[in-house]
Amino acid sequence: MKASAFAYARATSVANALELLTTHGEKAKVLSGGQSLLPAMNMRLIAPELVIDIGELAELRGIVVKEGVITIGALTRHADLLKSTEIAAHAPLLTDAVAHVAHPAIRNRGTIGGSLAHADPASELPACMLALAATVIARGPSGERRIAASEFFAGIYETALMPQELLVAIELPVAPKNSTHFFHEFARRHGDYAILGLAAQAVVKGGRFADLRLGFFAVGDRPVLAGSAGKLVDVAITPAVLSEAFFALNDELDPLEDHQATPAMRRHLAKVLLARCVSSLLGRPDLRAGASV
Ligand code: FAD
Repeated sequence: MKASAFAYARATSVANALELLTTHGEKAKVLSGGQSLLPAMNMRLIAPELVIDIGELAELRGIVVKEGVITIGALTRHADLLKSTEIAAHAPLLTDAVAHVAHPAIRNRGTIGGSLAHADPASELPACMLALAATVIARGPSGERRIAASEFFAGIYETALMPQELLVAIELPVAPKNSTHFFHEFARRHGDYAILGLAAQAVVKGGRFADLRLGFFAVGDRPVLAGSAGKLVDVAITPAVLSEAFFALNDELDPLEDHQATPAMRRHLAKVLLARCVSSLLGRPDLRAGASV
């Protein structure tokens, strides 16, 4: 199939893109890498009257690390994240995760801003934003807004962005020196959308978690920052403690049924991943067996 007829405008600046968005509102769609927008248009799931191409706006591309904050421009491509030495040094979770996003051809065009604005609940990067305590920066007709990642994802393909707003950048705190991370997803083939996944960052002191942030994906209509992580912080981890965390996690998830898995299977996989994550971050192989609790 081909997309319905649409008008096309190449934005010449962020201000120009915002003017077009203000004029056309919900009738317009922003085009970044096009890796989700164009398939959706070709399948006629959406039919914008105007496509605003921001792809040439160099000011929205790049990675800067300054005073403990990593700023990633919205148009930074998945491939740029993957090869960035700054991301590898200061947000290594993201380097691991982005290698699981689709395939090289898609990573060469797809952007972090597009991925977050698209808000597919099975996407890797939104869950990483939760685990890394990211802030999304949106610009609109009345100026700039800073939105915590935990407030940004509102449902399947839904975010806190307003139709007249452009996602311009993402800010992440530099990972603490003593932090460690975990990323794993279950997928039928490498590069497929995940059946279920977990992106986590932790600080471990004396064999205990001093901090633990768990970002699950493909567990419901949006990524989940698991509050059950709190059960695992500042305590000696035993199978009983892990079991309590499983119960708490189970209450937080609302997995959907699709062609890949049932909700029950997703609940089981979430438990398996939590056990693997805790075991890996603490260097405690004995805890992997906790998955059967
Ligand atoms: P676009 O397609 O250009 O835009 C996506 C949506 O976001 C549109 O609604 C658009 O209007 C909006 N948008 C884009 N940029 C902005 C902005 N700056 N401000 C406001 N709104 C904006 N993704 C995964 O996470 N994991 C996968 O495993 C995966 N597999 C894929 C496999 C295939 C075969 C394909 C085609 C895609 C796959 N993707 C996957 C999606 C890919 O990662 C996309 O690149 C990404 O979801 C969207 O980024 P984009 O830059 O291409 O955005």
